Amino acid sequence: MSELDIRNLHVSVEGREILKGVNLIVRQGEVHALMGPNGTGKSTLAYTLMGHPNYEVTEGEVWFKGKNILELEPDERAHLGLFLAFQYPVAIPGVSVANFLRSAINAKRRAINPEDKGIPVPEFRRMLKETMDLLKMDHTFASRYLNEGFSGGEKKRAEVLQMAVLRPEIAIMDETDSGLDIDALRIVSEGVNTLRGPDLGVLVITHYQRILNYIKPDFVHIMLDGRIVESGGAELALHLEEHGYDWLREKSAEAMNG
Ligand code: ADP
Ligand code: MG
Repeated sequence: MSELDIRNLHVSVEGREILKGVNLIVRQGEVHALMGPNGTGKSTLAYTLMGHPNYEVTEGEVWFKGKNILELEPDERAHLGLFLAFQYPVAIPGVSVANFLRSAINAKRRAINPEDKGIPVPEFRRMLKETMDLLKMDHTFASRYLNEGFSGGEKKRAEVLQMAVLRPEIAIMDETDSGLDIDALRIVSEGVNTLRGPDLGVLVITHYQRILNYIKPDFVHIMLDGRIVESGGAELALHLEEHGYDWLREKSAEAMNG
């Protein structure tokens, strides 16, 4: 059973500390929602986990399968079984969604076995079709050029498809840059609801408070000002929907003032 273990993570962007000691464990088979108002550091956590160079880790560790992944390159993190949406955020001219996915699968296979010849094309085609059917996606989507002219929703669909074919053990899905938050959350949630099971652990990041309309997380965490200040079950999302974040701001201010 794999788990992603984030320990006392501190991260600075352009010299300013954004994450101020984040602790979080996501295990295979669990769906976690990370919530919190805009600007509290949720995306900073996602970018840091994927190894984006602008995010400077000043303290802390992130363990996965016996390795501190902060010491690994982004592709090594992926080959280990972590899926981080936006690993390939840019449009790649002339590369179809299908070809991109096949390259990603083959890179992962070669990381496990350098002699691997790659997934046979017929097997890949069959698997891709089955996966798209499972996700109720139009097959023509696979022949589109990756991210070229994609709407926010289509980018999300590409990410969900990538997650589905790569079969990661732990996936982190952020809502960033996705246009309408609610559309993105709906697409990600449908994908996660379809794919969730004992082999997949997911961290869904959103600031959308009515998340329970879309997904029922096993755990909910609330981030405020660079820290997770409250964790609970799905009922925490319900409480948030009714009461907003103010009660937490007061609570964490009290805790900080002793
Ligand atoms: P959230 O995802 O919770 O809305 P972010 O992680 O995007 O929050 O942002 C947290 C804080 O870090 C914000 O004040 C934001 O301006 C700052 N920040 C995040 N990324 C960058 C960046 N690449 N350059 C400069 N500031 C950033
Ligand atoms: Mg964000």
